[in-house]
Amino acid sequence: MSDGDAVSIDVPAFAKINLYLHVTGRRPDGYHLLDSLVAFAGIGDLIEARFDETVRLTVGGPYAADVPDGPDNLVLRAAHRLAAAGGVTAGAALHLTKRLPVASGMGGGSADAAAALKALARLWDLRPADGDLAALALDLGADVPVCLKGRGAFMGGIGEDIVDCPPLPDGCWVVLANPGVALSTAEVFRRRDGGFSGPGRFEATPADAAELAEILNDRRNDLTNAAVALAPPVAAVLADLAASPGALMARMTGSGATCFALFASMDAATDAAAALQTRHPDWWVAPAPLGGDTDAWPREFAAPGGSGG
Ligand code: ATP
Repeated sequence: MSDGDAVSIDVPAFAKINLYLHVTGRRPDGYHLLDSLVAFAGIGDLIEARFDETVRLTVGGPYAADVPDGPDNLVLRAAHRLAAAGGVTAGAALHLTKRLPVASGMGGGSADAAAALKALARLWDLRPADGDLAALALDLGADVPVCLKGRGAFMGGIGEDIVDCPPLPDGCWVVLANPGVALSTAEVFRRRDGGFSGPGRFEATPADAAELAEILNDRRNDLTNAAVALAPPVAAVLADLAASPGALMARMTGSGATCFALFASMDAATDAAAALQTRHPDWWVAPAPLGGDTDAWPREFAAPGGSGG
């Protein structure tokens, strides 16, 4: 093995948060059209990649048991697609540290796939055109392109229409809470009834967390009722988050069951998270900074203290 073979590339896979999510229509092929403001929370999974003979994956971390470690894992699917598109003959040993609950509305699988594409493009020294990589990402899942971008954005269409959003204010924090119920995105969409919403895009730059909350309060997550019907504890999570001291607004992310509350400071968020965890020891609860630009965040946000498994 040469020195170059020992290189290891880490890419964090941050949790995706749908600050609002409107279902705006449905295509003839059944895919739903969305309009969403997507941001990222400073907590997530971690992908590590190094050269190996073949493409293979190991999985560790607290939620390792909940994800497939075979070809169905989105990390491996992303790796094989990228290798095929780039004509790559080298292999890669990938390690996923799974810290986000699975099927929870935070796009963990999508973030992992996007992180794997970034890590492998660097490891294999590929320079795919942005459009080619975005098309490959969309093929892996609707949320993969926005995770690949890694910046807050308005997301439209079936996930392919990604437009910069106004900068999110500094100092925003969220508390994330999940009652331990996995929700299938497809099933939540199937359960949804009612009409379609208009888009919720806006141009104003919110000056602070309170102004962001005001804007978000005029918008919603159109999948909430369907998620509550399938997983009634989601209603309790929303109510408890909304009643937390300092919470500016509370909402479900993606197709649930994870919900978030927005806070104006780290102290308010960490206090609320500690109190919530005490009231509900069986829930997954995490405070995290909320932001639009994940490139500026340290790897430790995704996997404190190393790979952890
Ligand atoms: P979204 O918010 O994009 O709808 P989600 O957070 O609800 O996504 P994921 O955690 O991405 O859902 O998991 C969706 C499904 O994908 C799960 O059923 C899981 O088995 C499968 N899956 C495949 N690979 C992964 C991965 N690396 N991490 C999580 N789930 C994965």
